[in-house]
Amino acid sequence: MISLKKINKFYHQGNQKIHILHDISLEIEQGEFVGIMGQSGSGKSTLINIIGFLDREYQGDYIFKEQNTSSYSNKKLTSLRNQNVGFVFQNFKLINNLSVAENIALPLMYAGVKKKEITQKIIEVLEKVGLTGYEKSIPSQLSGGQQQRVSIARAIIGNPTFLIADEPTGALDSQTSEEIMSLFKELNTVNKTTIVIVTHDPNVGQQMNRLLTILDGRLTPDTGVRNNNEI
Ligand code: ADP
Ligand code: MG
Repeated sequence: MISLKKINKFYHQGNQKIHILHDISLEIEQGEFVGIMGQSGSGKSTLINIIGFLDREYQGDYIFKEQNTSSYSNKKLTSLRNQNVGFVFQNFKLINNLSVAENIALPLMYAGVKKKEITQKIIEVLEKVGLTGYEKSIPSQLSGGQQQRVSIARAIIGNPTFLIADEPTGALDSQTSEEIMSLFKELNTVNKTTIVIVTHDPNVGQQMNRLLTILDGRLTPDTGVRNNNEI
């Protein structure tokens, strides 16, 4: 479904051209639960910004569902992103003067979905993330783990083709991290959501069905690790 072919990414700083991603080729199939691991600064966020159609300034080809998206205009890429990708971030990125329900509703409101349908969807996704009844709460009144559940609800409400989570447990204690990882696992196994999780935490990485490792902007060849859950 996701196919990157020889992706190279450069940043320009003054006159300098910095080579960030080197010949990245990878395939992610529908239904996969994939981790991307690597040290801080290794290029993980840069890579998933490309995978999530946030960045089109790269060299190489990105084939998504048999379409080569590399030459798409910003407008076309934005609509591809809105229709296919849900994002979860380390720091939740919730809007604090909006209720939980309003935060979750945002993607559907932008998409022009009817209010009645949105209300029903909110009930469904809150149940999925274990926050039934929290519609009227304000994010700042919730624990970190609950806030991350809200952001996961927001990411899945539009029924995206795949989820990208950039260090989703980075701001959470280990117990809460495990709970959030269990939720991702459940979304993957029960709802068949394709999930790509970026982490530098080996405890998170070892829970993925497949782990890609990135070092200084290069994928290391020892990919394809499968954990015991798969066997
Ligand atoms: P990671 O997510 O693995 O910590 P990043 O993808 O954020 O790493 O960054 C990879 C490298 O690219 C780092 O050296 C970082 O300093 C550099 N970088 C990231 N964003 C920019 C930018 N907008 N301009 C210049 N350099 C950048
Ligand atoms: Mg990062």
